[in-house]
Amino acid sequence: MTEWEGFVSECMACTKCGLHKERKHVVIGRGESLNVPLLFVGEGPGEQEDIQGEAFVGRAGKLLDLLLEALEFSPRNYYIANIVKCRPPDNRTPTDEEVMACLPWLRYQVKIIKPKIIVCLGATAAKAIIDPDFKITKMRGGWVERQGKTLIMPTFHPSAVLRDSAKRDDFYLDLKKVREKLVERGL
Ligand code: SF4
Repeated sequence: MTEWEGFVSECMACTKCGLHKERKHVVIGRGESLNVPLLFVGEGPGEQEDIQGEAFVGRAGKLLDLLLEALEFSPRNYYIANIVKCRPPDNRTPTDEEVMACLPWLRYQVKIIKPKIIVCLGATAAKAIIDPDFKITKMRGGWVERQGKTLIMPTFHPSAVLRDSAKRDDFYLDLKKVREKLVERGL
């Protein structure tokens, strides 16, 4: 069994927080490869993700896919995961306790994937990864450097863009910056 397979098998059986009670699937993520320079991190699975067991396959995921395709991101170049792996009821924001319980799984994914760039999709991801006091409207679109090697970009969650089309241009421009950074670094 590979390290990744071991991680998946342990994560699938996780009952470390109350979100395990109503889940249909533990949603590990989505990607064509684990050998990628770019990791997107969202908040948690929605209804479709819970049903299908895959990350970002609902409306928000389709919007993200559309923009990534328009910007010519190669699907073999990124992986998409979430802060919590089980669906919060009614798509509510996960509590701090749920985030803390689930974060070790994401850290494990980061350890295996070793992304050079992480994009936080929405405030929940940015608060957990960058700063608990993070304010998405003030701080999105800038680069944060971690340990001199990982670049982190916070931007909107595509669900927020679906709810408010005024965010769409900024979201697109943030993703464009990410694409340019990949090219600049030869990734
Ligand atoms: S959300 Fe995370 S910590 Fe909670 S039960 Fe699911 S996998 Fe475990």
